[in-house]
Amino acid sequence: MENRILQQLNEVKDKITLACQRVKREPKEVKLLLATKTVIPENIKVALEAGETLIGENKIQELKSKFNAFGDHRPEIHFIGHLQSNKIKEAVKYADCIESIDRFDLAQKLDNRLRSEGKTMPVFIQVNTSFEASKFGVAPEEALSLIKAVAPLEALEIKGLMTIGLLSNVTEKVREGFRLLRELRDEANALQLPGVQLSELSMGMSNDMEMAIEEGATIVRVGTAIFGQRKYPDSYYWNENKK
Ligand SMILES: *Cc1c(COP(=O)(O)O)cnc(C)c1O
Repeated sequence: MENRILQQLNEVKDKITLACQRVKREPKEVKLLLATKTVIPENIKVALEAGETLIGENKIQELKSKFNAFGDHRPEIHFIGHLQSNKIKEAVKYADCIESIDRFDLAQKLDNRLRSEGKTMPVFIQVNTSFEASKFGVAPEEALSLIKAVAPLEALEIKGLMTIGLLSNVTEKVREGFRLLRELRDEANALQLPGVQLSELSMGMSNDMEMAIEEGATIVRVGTAIFGQRKYPDSYYWNENKK
C-alpha cells in the first residue's frame, strides 16, 4: 500500500507540473490538498512523510477521530464538506480553514464562535458552479452578495472561492464551471471591499484537476488518484441533508 500511495502521489504531482507548464504557470502556485475522507491515518501519514502538508476532510466526526493520530506533525487541515451549524464549535477546534461557507447564517455563527474564543479563521466561499441541485454551494448569481455580507465579519478572512466541478465527461461543460469560479473571484476583487483580497481558487479533483489548473486553480483537492477508490460514492458525502 505504502509504495502504491507514493507512486500515485508522484504521478499526481507530475500531472500538476505538466498542466502548469501547458499554461505557463509556476507549479508552486498550485497547492495539493489531499482529500482524505475514508483514508486511514496510517495511509495519510505515508503522504505526509513524503512531504505533503495539507489535507481536507468532509465530516467533523471523522476529522475528530483522526486528529490525534497526527501527533505533533499534523498537517494544515481544511474542512471541505457540508458544515452543519451544530458542528461549528468542533470545526473551530479541529480545522484550520473552512472551505465550504455557502450561506450567511453559517458564516455569522462561525464568526460569533471565533470571536468568543478570540480567534480568526481563513475561509472560502463555496459556489455551486455546476448548477446541479445535488451539490452544496451558493448559486453563482448570489455569490457576490454573500461575499459582501461575509466581508465585514471580523473573525473571518475570505481567502478565495471553492467549487466542486460538474461530474461529466463533457469537458467543455466542466471547464465552464471552473472559468465561472475564476470570473467570480475577479469580480469580487474588483469590488475592492475593505480588507478583502481573494487569491485562492480551490477547484479540481482526481478527474478534472488538470483542467482546473489550466483555468487558474491554486488548490487542487485530490483523493482517489492518490489513495485509491473509496467504498461509498461521493454523493454519500455531499448530500447529507439534501434529498
Ligand atoms: C472527495 C472530495 C474531493 C476529492 O475527490 P477525488 O475524486 O477522490 O479526487 C475533492 N473535493 C471534495 C469536496 C471532496 O468531497
